[in-house]
Amino acid sequence: MTDLLDVAAMARWIQRDGAEAILRGMAQYVEDDYRRFDRFDKTPRVASHTPFGVIELMPTSDGELYSFKFVNGHPLNPARGFQTVTAFGALADVDNGYPIFLAEMTLLTALRTAATSAMAAKHLARPDSRISAMIGSGSQSEFQALAMRAVLGIEDLRIYDIDPAAIDKMCRNLEPLGFRIHRADSPQEAVQGADIVTTCTADKALATILTDDMVAPGMHLNAIGGDCPGKTELEAAVLDRGPVFVEFTPQTRIEGEIQQKEPDFPVVELFEVLSGAHPGRESAEQVTIFDSVGFAVSDFAGLRYAREANLGTELMGQVDLVADPEDPKDLFSLVAALSPVG
Ligand code: NAD
Repeated sequence: MTDLLDVAAMARWIQRDGAEAILRGMAQYVEDDYRRFDRFDKTPRVASHTPFGVIELMPTSDGELYSFKFVNGHPLNPARGFQTVTAFGALADVDNGYPIFLAEMTLLTALRTAATSAMAAKHLARPDSRISAMIGSGSQSEFQALAMRAVLGIEDLRIYDIDPAAIDKMCRNLEPLGFRIHRADSPQEAVQGADIVTTCTADKALATILTDDMVAPGMHLNAIGGDCPGKTELEAAVLDRGPVFVEFTPQTRIEGEIQQKEPDFPVVELFEVLSGAHPGRESAEQVTIFDSVGFAVSDFAGLRYAREANLGTELMGQVDLVADPEDPKDLFSLVAALSPVG
């Protein structure tokens, strides 16, 4: 039997343990796995693009466990009543190749993306960061805000979205949790005075959500929405304002903000900062840029954390996923009894 965490169980786990406690724990798992980045089997994700969006497969392995995620990205979906991003994924035992854990990953992707953003900000943003601006108030936004509070203690948000209903929704979800929210009328107003700026918009276009004139010294930029060829959020000049940090260079060159730059544009992998090979932020005035696209090692850490947190609890279901006859050479035995005679 394979352990299973479906959507209802994932939601109940988050309610039971609290999103911020989970995000804090998951950020540590993400950090632990990026610290041992050289141990992972890594490849850019396999993407199938259409004019409507993309469907991607994201595999990785640390030699003991193997993980994959199936994820879509369809920016036009909300207008049709569907979500932009949905996902599911699995962990398998490398020893015999059997899947040991199957999980919904729409909620888990929001958690792991926010945990990765917060882990990167912990190492790259100014330690005295107090104000966070968010452009894009869709599905990812609350999780991003909660992770920044869980890991960095930030409670002051300045938010902007082209859709006023999305801003209403974000205020409705976060104000009862104690966030102080300023609703901005423009992206320029939102980023004014912010220490950390998160862009999490969805549009399959080379957009300029954040222009160079909006970037102030000392800011940390957390750009998560530009994650596909032809889909970016930062004006190209922003990328010259400070060092650009990435998850896995070969994938980010295809999908990230740096697709707008020459193929040898210098970047630093998060792993290098965590290992001490790169100093990360070097002054309070420096601008730091996390060009996030979402990498398989973050999914691996998220799956590992979700499984361990729920092993043996009533939330963990089971699914009969592997055909496993008593005689491993007699697969037919599973159907022979059902076969019509003659
Ligand atoms: P969503 O569709 O739920 O929300 C996107 C929001 O952006 C919407 O509210 C929309 O109105 C707003 N928006 C669009 N254009 C805008 C503009 N020009 N200015 C301001 N707001 C604008 O999408 P989501 O699930 O929240 O995902 C957000 C983005 O993050 C997507 O592009 C998605 O592909 C990406 N994503 C990245 C990662 C990662 O690991 N880097 C993970 C998950 C999702």
